[in-house]
Amino acid sequence: MPTVKEPPFPRKRTRRIMVGDVPVGGGAPVSVQSMTTTKTHDIGATLQQIAELTAAGCDIVRVACPTDKDAEALPVIARQSTIPVIADIHFQPRYVFQAIEAGCGAVRVNPGNIRRFDDQIEAITKAARDHGTSLRIGVNAGSLDRRMYQKFGGPTAEALVESAVWEASLFEQYDFHDFKISVKHHDVPTMIKAYELLSERGDWPLHLGVTEAGPAFQGTIKSATAFGALLRSGIGDTIRVSLSAPPVEEVKVGIQILRSLGLRERSLEIVSCPSCGRAQVDVYTLAENVTEGLKDLTVPLRVAVMGCVVNGPGEAREADLGVASGNGKGQIFIRGEVVDTVPEDQIVETLIRRANLLAEEMGLE
Ligand code: SF4
Repeated sequence: MPTVKEPPFPRKRTRRIMVGDVPVGGGAPVSVQSMTTTKTHDIGATLQQIAELTAAGCDIVRVACPTDKDAEALPVIARQSTIPVIADIHFQPRYVFQAIEAGCGAVRVNPGNIRRFDDQIEAITKAARDHGTSLRIGVNAGSLDRRMYQKFGGPTAEALVESAVWEASLFEQYDFHDFKISVKHHDVPTMIKAYELLSERGDWPLHLGVTEAGPAFQGTIKSATAFGALLRSGIGDTIRVSLSAPPVEEVKVGIQILRSLGLRERSLEIVSCPSCGRAQVDVYTLAENVTEGLKDLTVPLRVAVMGCVVNGPGEAREADLGVASGNGKGQIFIRGEVVDTVPEDQIVETLIRRANLLAEEMGLE
């Protein structure tokens, strides 16, 4: 997990649990999760998707487990996955035991339907403890416990929190503490409020998520807004961006949110100006071509593409490498100093060449 040495702002101290070999809470780096979209019992397809998620930087993966066939596939998936697997269990208590015995890193249970096995909580805590498996108590506005729904008149932030705290107490009565909690809601202000309230009630590690966030564009904005507000307040130990899009996109967005907050080491970052009446070049095309040309560079390099020489250098002073365009030329500058001036049609190739040289100098390519 490429992470920063020191987070740029204080994080709330939560207790630490382990999801397989990934620490969650207690100052551990904020991990990024996603969930497979394959039928879990299609072991080949599921492992293939897990491999793609792993390559994208996913730290922990969750798989659905709605049928016997899915539960039976868990041992192979848990063994062959290179990142910890969380089994997502609803309704069927016996799948919880199967997932624990399969070697899953964690099991997600939902208080909205866990009442059916209240009397099995003690056995679950024993099995989880014996196998070193953690749990996630996943409260969700869409499947809120009916008693809470009635008491609070709907899935309010207070209702989600009450449900989570009650569920936590069921496990805590058996001195079991290896669980994290999520209180997901589709409405960003309600979701933020729920996590803030929950964070005041205990030191549980928290899994952040906006449920049913929507298609990629809307879901990205909702997740970035919600996670940004909470993480900046120090709340949140692991995140899952939910998108109606391929899960690899969820991972990319999650990592980018953490990088934007300074919680992950940055990689290549293209900074381009929005363009304005002063622009003397097509900034959008230039930025696109530079992005495409540098897409394989994985070094923490900030490259600025600016539309004019009036404000460009000043606006990009913090960049490692940049261009400010004007009069058919591009001023190339490195860390604020002009190092070259090239014709406009050579800007892209010059930036790519200079970026690769910088990467070599940094010894990181
Ligand atoms: Fe406008 Fe120049 Fe700033 Fe780009 S760099 S937004 S063109 S002033």
